[in-house]
Amino acid sequence: MDRPLLNRRLAEFGTTIFAEMSALALRTGSINLGQGFPDTDGPEEVREAAVQALREGRGNQYPPGPGVPELRRAIADHQSRFHGLEVDPDSEVLVTAGATEAIAATLLALVEPGDEVIALEPYYDSYAASIAMAGGQRVPVTLRPHTDDDGTRRFVLDLDELRAAVTDRTRLLLLNSPHNPTGTVLSRDELTAIAELARERDLLVVTDEVYEHLAFDGTHLPIASLPGMWERTVTISSAGKTFAFTGWKVGWVTGAPALVTAVRSAKQYLTFVSAGPFQYAVAEALALPDTYYTGLREDLRAKRDLLTKGLVEAGFEVFHSAGTYFVTADIRPLGATDGIEFCLSLPERCGVVAVPTQVFYDHQEEGSPFVRFAFSKRQEVLQQAAERLRTLAR
Ligand code: PMP
Ligand code: GLN
Repeated sequence: MDRPLLNRRLAEFGTTIFAEMSALALRTGSINLGQGFPDTDGPEEVREAAVQALREGRGNQYPPGPGVPELRRAIADHQSRFHGLEVDPDSEVLVTAGATEAIAATLLALVEPGDEVIALEPYYDSYAASIAMAGGQRVPVTLRPHTDDDGTRRFVLDLDELRAAVTDRTRLLLLNSPHNPTGTVLSRDELTAIAELARERDLLVVTDEVYEHLAFDGTHLPIASLPGMWERTVTISSAGKTFAFTGWKVGWVTGAPALVTAVRSAKQYLTFVSAGPFQYAVAEALALPDTYYTGLREDLRAKRDLLTKGLVEAGFEVFHSAGTYFVTADIRPLGATDGIEFCLSLPERCGVVAVPTQVFYDHQEEGSPFVRFAFSKRQEVLQQAAERLRTLAR
């Protein structure tokens, strides 16, 4: 057979960098600051709620297609409580198998072959694969290093570049804020400008807000809450990051009924439904008091500071992480230029695994010197990682 087995839409996508780097960590016994997941589980009462649902036979058979009513109601309450968005749990909420399925179903539902999809580069890897599966063309708009007046280094969006990337074939803007991997959080002004552009050019917006509770400076603003945006925005989030149960794969989509109905059409034939008992547990998690949410954020803020300090002491140039549980570092001050090579050698050099950001770029040269470290780990693990990384400075 001459024909390759993998179809040409997926030909460029091999194993995800996260699986590759986690395997490397395991093989070398390194501290895994590559794949983003917490090394402690979420709240005990939420775990218990899942056990109870399982025991009581809630969700052990196919739950309803859009998600169990308790969870849809809890998602609607959450959107109102944290973002002032009034969402109808019956027509404007869809439960998915994590944000990953939400992204795939949304793109499969909204994109025609040949449509252009603008994504912020570096982009989360599943965006590229989902755009490809939908037959769309990805159009990356690069977030670039910038120095603030006070010397803070961070990645910023160039709004002129974004505007210039829109063509008559552009179907949608795929946003992610707080942004993985750069830690950039789009400001109200930036989001307002993006919203204006979307309205002016009649674009749909798909916004991945899985780190909505991990904005450290100021608050996260959903673009769907800006004037005229509800009708054209699909908002995606998930329980993985907010409640530290990444393995449960409970995510959701909120938006105007027509959008949610379209996404549901695709979702029905991907998984139909998922995570029955976990849906009940996540409904309880979403109702946790504010102290849970602020505790999560403050815990991760302290961890960000700890790891950032360690990376600076190791000799990296570190970009400010305003959100997510990732921090990006420039390897050039350490005499390296190729992030992939650097990350492959890091376990041997100091027993730490990181992710080369380059793999999230089409313009690979832009991302070559950057590597991403996850700080969603226990303090003592981060401390030990920092100690190991400091040996690079010597
Ligand atoms: N979007 C972003 C930006 C992510 O970092 C991740 C990884 N957690 C996902 C989506 C996937 O989320 P989930 O595990 O809920 O599918
Ligand atoms: N979202 C996590 C990260 O960015 C990993 C998810 C995955 O392994 N697909 O590292």
